[in-house]
Amino acid sequence: MCALPAMTLSREAVDFIDENYLNSLLGQSRPSAARVREIIAKSLAKEALSVEETAVLLLAEDPELLEEIFAAARQLKETVYGNRIVLFAPLYIGNDCINDCTYCAFKRSNFQAVRRTLTPDEIRQQVTALEDKGHKRLILVFGEHAKYDADFIADTVRNVYSVRSGHGEIRRVNINAAPLDHEGYRKVKEAGIGTYQIFMETYHHETYSRVHSHKTRKGDYLYRLDGLSRAFEAGCDDVGLGVLFGLYDWRFEVLGMVRHALYLQERFNVGPHTLSFPRLRPAHGVDFDERYFVDDDQFKRVIAILRLAVPYTGLILTAREKPELRRELLSFGVSQIDAGSRIELGGYTEAGDAQVMEREQFSLGDIRSLDEVMRELMADGYVPSFCTSCYRSGRTGEHFMEFSIPGFIKRFCTPNALLTLEEYLADYASPETRAVGERLLADELAKMEEGEMKERTLKQLAAIRDKGTRDLYF
Ligand code: SAM
Ligand code: SF4
Repeated sequence: MCALPAMTLSREAVDFIDENYLNSLLGQSRPSAARVREIIAKSLAKEALSVEETAVLLLAEDPELLEEIFAAARQLKETVYGNRIVLFAPLYIGNDCINDCTYCAFKRSNFQAVRRTLTPDEIRQQVTALEDKGHKRLILVFGEHAKYDADFIADTVRNVYSVRSGHGEIRRVNINAAPLDHEGYRKVKEAGIGTYQIFMETYHHETYSRVHSHKTRKGDYLYRLDGLSRAFEAGCDDVGLGVLFGLYDWRFEVLGMVRHALYLQERFNVGPHTLSFPRLRPAHGVDFDERYFVDDDQFKRVIAILRLAVPYTGLILTAREKPELRRELLSFGVSQIDAGSRIELGGYTEAGDAQVMEREQFSLGDIRSLDEVMRELMADGYVPSFCTSCYRSGRTGEHFMEFSIPGFIKRFCTPNALLTLEEYLADYASPETRAVGERLLADELAKMEEGEMKERTLKQLAAIRDKGTRDLYF
């Protein structure tokens, strides 16, 4: 039977967003260059920043200091993550929704939206199409509706994992859906989910109430804020936070996100696995209040400052942004992007080249194919990665934190990224992309320290190329 989860809270649930305090931090005068540099140095030593320190970076305006913030973000990204970029694709499962978020085309008051929930067979067709392009990681996206309860999400996850097309398989399924109750999280965890993402959209209470009617479930600020705490209590230790930038002041939202990350770290000993920072996009049936739109320069600051504030947390940049800007923003500390994305229900098999607004939640800025994005990334010197080894070896949550400090990511993740890249080149790349990829692989291998790890990597690459072996990882 389908039912909405009970609106229970976690133990000791509190509203930890102290708005007056965050505003007071943002109301301070411009920081001195020395103070900004001191904070940058702390971050470069790979220490997470406090909200107070993050506020100082947000208040810096001097172009020279902003350049230093950008340069530090680039450096930190390089030392923690190397030049890898993890790739994934979104898969929209159903857009029925009981909420009425003013900014979203799926809101219940948008009567022109074409409503649809994919059947299990249709889901298999979409997954087959994604596997045939080379995808290994998906994020499943759901509206909020009794139809999409925890059993439905768990069954969908199992269905996705069971699809095999040629050498293709999905190795990690993340979720972006409404908050669940404890039992719900246990069910989806048992189905083998990766990250459970819930975006707070805005941490600013008044704005939250303005864009989420109090007559809807999403209108309950504390229930949503507490959503990921319930996930932790139920054993899901791999979670993602997000803000929809453009609803309220971007500086306040960055502080809200950092506060949330620190709260989870303090309470559960584990921070979020990823942060997302979608910017508002045009959407069918939606009128925007443009007061808080975040321009490209401000957006760069958002990303660079988040990178510095939470050195070990993945940053996700989606195809909402245009290709040229995505290319530039990658160097500011982004670690994951989607590619070849379609967000119409059934879009991976049914859509033509043009986007159909009535069928999607918002319009995308980058609709290039996975192959094109792979080629550009590699030509720019990035190593695209489909690696899922941490999650599949049980290295998540607290364990992931142990492994990621110090240098684990660079030592193990780079070889793992190269193995998944070799699979992509062998199975899916166009001849042009393969040529660029082979050059990149050779360059990366030349950079690797001589020793056992390099020997093993070379052997495994040869097994993938010559013997058709797949799914090798360290
Ligand atoms: N329905 C669930 C919820 O609201 O949490 C999960 C999926 S919702 C389809 C995914 C995210 O899309 C939302 O959390 C919101 O941040 C984002 N979104 C909604 N409307 C948008 C728009 N017009 N432009 C950009 N992102 C948007
Ligand atoms: Fe529904 Fe999510 Fe869209 Fe809000 S953002 S209307 S909850 S799909």
